[in-house]
Amino acid sequence: MLRLQDIDKSYPMGEERVQVLRQVSLTVQAGEFISILGASGSGKSTLMNIIGCIDTADRGSYSLDGEDVFLLDARQLAALRNRKIGFIFQRYHLLAQYDVLQNVMMPLLRGFSHQQAAPLAVESLTAMGLGDRLRHRPNQLSGGQQQRVAIARALVGKPALLLADEPTGALDTRTGREILELFRQLNRQGHTIIQITHDLTVASAASRILHLRDGVLTDQ
Ligand code: ADP
Ligand code: MG
Repeated sequence: MLRLQDIDKSYPMGEERVQVLRQVSLTVQAGEFISILGASGSGKSTLMNIIGCIDTADRGSYSLDGEDVFLLDARQLAALRNRKIGFIFQRYHLLAQYDVLQNVMMPLLRGFSHQQAAPLAVESLTAMGLGDRLRHRPNQLSGGQQQRVAIARALVGKPALLLADEPTGALDTRTGREILELFRQLNRQGHTIIQITHDLTVASAASRILHLRDGVLTDQ
């Protein structure tokens, strides 16, 4: 499904460069659910941005679903991201001025008309148990419901990979557990999931945990 090899990433810092990822290699098979666990500042978001085709590396290679990611230009990268990856964020990133249905239709509107997109969005929301909340605005929903809208939006384009950055970080423990149970259910249905977190309990929802320490990724 995806293979990162010997990824180095640094950022300029005055005259110097800070090395953020060091020789990171990672292979994820289709159908896996993995967690990347690391403390604040360990490079999680940097790695997530590379896996999510938002950023590229200084060195190394990345193949995603058969595409050599680092050979693509910015426009091709955006297209690949749109086609292959569903993102889920800690703070949901829903658009407050739009209702639930419009939020979930949004990623489809590049390729589909409203008439085509609406039933797909309804289907995705219904699968998340939100079929009766289509006309609500995000601020009329609980945190857990907002995150389920975000998951419906992430899934609506049938992406190859679900990428979640601290998906339970803004939720209370019980609601967080429900979201993790939902991820496990999606994984059993065949979805490939990579979750990034600083919390071991959250990480343990996955079937494999990798550790990121000072930019070095290991399996223990
Ligand atoms: P995490 O998500 O694990 O907290 P990040 O990937 O956000 O870690 O950051 C890892 C390190 O890289 C930190 O020391 C951070 O200051 C640095 N860093 C991240 N993004 C940038 C950037 N755009 N420019 C300079 N330094 C950055
Ligand atoms: Mg981060």
